[in-house]
Amino acid sequence: MKKYDVIVVGSGFAGATIAERLANKLGKKVLIIDKRDHIGGNMYDYVDKNGIITHKYGPHLFHTNLDNVYDYVTKFGKWFTYEHRVLGKIKDNLVPIPFNLTSLEKCFSKEKSEKLKKVLINEFGLEKKIPILELRKHSDKDINELAEFIYENVFLYYTMKQWGQTPDEIDPEVTNRVPIFISLDDRYFQDKYQIMPVGGYTKIFENMLNSENIDIKLSVDAKSIMSFLEGKIMVEGEVFKGLVIYTGEVDELFNYKYGDLPYRSLKFEFESKDVDYYQPVATVNYPTKEDKFTRITEYKHMTGENYNVNKTTIMREYPCQYEKNKNMIPYYPINNEESKNIYEKYLQEANRYPNLHLIGRLSQYKYYNMDLIINEALKLFEKIEKEN
Ligand code: FAD
Ligand code: UDP
Repeated sequence: MKKYDVIVVGSGFAGATIAERLANKLGKKVLIIDKRDHIGGNMYDYVDKNGIITHKYGPHLFHTNLDNVYDYVTKFGKWFTYEHRVLGKIKDNLVPIPFNLTSLEKCFSKEKSEKLKKVLINEFGLEKKIPILELRKHSDKDINELAEFIYENVFLYYTMKQWGQTPDEIDPEVTNRVPIFISLDDRYFQDKYQIMPVGGYTKIFENMLNSENIDIKLSVDAKSIMSFLEGKIMVEGEVFKGLVIYTGEVDELFNYKYGDLPYRSLKFEFESKDVDYYQPVATVNYPTKEDKFTRITEYKHMTGENYNVNKTTIMREYPCQYEKNKNMIPYYPINNEESKNIYEKYLQEANRYPNLHLIGRLSQYKYYNMDLIINEALKLFEKIEKEN
């Protein structure tokens, strides 16, 4: 291990970005280890038996308002513009999600939807986004009635399935991600850049990590080679003096000594269908009480390829509580007072190791999208560069 200046644990966007920058801009010798048998973290995709690019860990749509992140990722391959659209099943209708003026028309009679549109536009203005929890507090009778309808038919059961709690019980930031949109714009995101990689994410990761200064070891768990002892990081039994950049779970890193951080997990069910297309858009949400899954994604819609097959692949997402040591993946941090306090303790512990940096959705314990993770990694790189 002595030949390496840096060990990066994890090859998702956090690990790959910091490794790429340190190797290519500062000339550092970097070793990346990942416990999975592939690079790319949760963005990993592959061509399935129907010939369709499929995301193994759930649909990943790249969207950002950050110029620096856009400039950075687009260096590593070709991307195409893709604007994601989502429909939600409400009372046997498929309506745009986020709930917008078109959804309103689809859910109510012409007369009622015209009236509600006018009230909403008067109160908030066109092109405004209102979080559901705010809309529910509104004093106007019509707005309040509409808010209850949307709460019940879009948020309540979806959130119960996704988080095991109601929208009022979870961090409001979570439901704020999908506000009510007073607009005819039916895109899921309104970011300046909305792109997908031609040929898939895995190719982007291969290009990022293709450097003579980077070695990659797959199917290696950091726990099996690394331990933490009184301010010193031991790697394969010796003190490692270089940098360690860790993008995994921070509670696992320190043997759960301050308790377990809670996460939600997902089970994915893939199915091949003998039809050209299964649904009208890439993702259909099921905010319904009866269905146990939250959404179905049909990858054919979002990969930019022309597929000459009369088959398609769909994937259902079944959320569940994360339990450690059960072969589950901790996808979503659960932010609440208790988990914040536990996380703080791990952060203090990590600060005792001057050559350790925590970065990524898991080790920063934040519900970050890909672009924000890349931005965090670029910021960390700048800090390390200045200290060099
Ligand atoms: P990860 O991608 O999780 O990578 C961490 C890596 O570290 C993994 O490969 C893991 O195997 C490895 N690792 C962990 N512990 C160890 C260890 N002890 N030893 C060795 N290796 C280890 N974001 C968007 O911007 N748009 C989307 O559409 C979107 N959709 C999503 C859909 C789902 C279902 C989920 C769960 C997330 C989605 N995200 C999306 C968020 C996105 O997945 C994260 O922002 C991104 O994965 C963060 O990258 P990361 O490198 O921090 O973590
Ligand atoms: N949400 C919902 N109904 C929907 C879509 C989203 O209740 O039809 C809520 C739910 O709590 C979800 C959150 O909004 O967890 C954020 O949704 P997003 O689509 O951003 O989730 P992600 O893609 O990150 O899983």
